[in-house]
Amino acid sequence: MPSSNRERLIEDLVARNREVLRRRLPQDPSAPQTMDEIEQMTEEISQEMDREIDRIITERKEVPPENQARCSCGALARYRGPAERVITTRHGEVRLRRRYYYCPACCRGFAPLDEQLRLDGGATPESFRGGSGWHCSPLTSPLPRRARSWSA
Ligand SMILES: [Zn+2]
Repeated sequence: MPSSNRERLIEDLVARNREVLRRRLPQDPSAPQTMDEIEQMTEEISQEMDREIDRIITERKEVPPENQARCSCGALARYRGPAERVITTRHGEVRLRRRYYYCPACCRGFAPLDEQLRLDGGATPESFRGGSGWHCSPLTSPLPRRARSWSA
C-alpha cells in the first residue's frame, strides 16, 4: 500500500473515532460520574471504535473496481452492484459494504472481498438470489456439469 493510501486510512480512522468520541463523551467532562458509569462509557466507546476500525480497514481491502471478476468456475462474472453483509468480528457485528458479482455460467453470486478475507458463505443478499428479473440457467453453462462442486 503506498504511503498516501496509508495516510488516508489513518485520517479516516481518526475522523471516525473523533465522531464516536463527540457523540459518546459527556458534554461537560467535569460533570460528576460514578466509576461504574465511567467504565460503562469507556467500554461502549472502545467497542464502537473497535468495530469501526475493523470495518474501515476491511473495506480498504476491496479490489479496484472492475465490471467483471473471475468466478471460481473459470467464467467471467458481471458486477451487480454494492452489497452489504454483516460479519461478526471479535469486536461485534460489522456492516461491510463490498462489490458483488454474479456468474451467469454457474448462477453463483459472490464478493471477491469475501474470498480474499476468507469469510464463509451464507450471507448472500436476498436481492441477488436469482430474483429481480435475473434469469439464470446453469444449462447454459459452457462448462460440463462435473465442473460444479455439488455434482462431482
Ligand atoms: Zn461461475
